[in-house]
Amino acid sequence: MKKTPQENIIHKNFLPGVITKEGFLGDDPRHVHEIVNEDTRILARLNRTPEQVADRLQFFIEQGKKGLETKVDLGDYTVQIIWSRGLLPCPFEEPRLHHKITCTVEVKDLNRTFKYSQLSVHMIREHGFFGGRGSPFRLNPTEMVELLGA
Ligand SMILES: [Zn+2]
Repeated sequence: MKKTPQENIIHKNFLPGVITKEGFLGDDPRHVHEIVNEDTRILARLNRTPEQVADRLQFFIEQGKKGLETKVDLGDYTVQIIWSRGLLPCPFEEPRLHHKITCTVEVKDLNRTFKYSQLSVHMIREHGFFGGRGSPFRLNPTEMVELLGA
């Protein structure tokens, strides 16, 4: 695929040190659009939409807020959020800022934990972007469907 200059500008936002220290792509060599296309196909095969996954992830953030940064027990899950000062722009460049909330969810039965940010939920919902492979904030769509019980 031939990249337009606009796409190149957006791609740069995902690299380490531009919006976040770690960036959003990990060691994934693919272009952002290829990552989005593949994850969208994977979810479609599981009969899920990015919005459904985002709704579930947002639910955990909202529950976590009730704990004011302490662990909240939800029965099958525990959830804990950390709310840092400041706001982050989205690397897809629409004019809107996002709270720096990090959410850790523990799936008790499976003894598994995963972590994501408020910005991750936005990028999944609005852009279908789950992060590049090897990125500390990547959420694997197949695992999400498995773990979230959505
Ligand atoms: Zn965005």
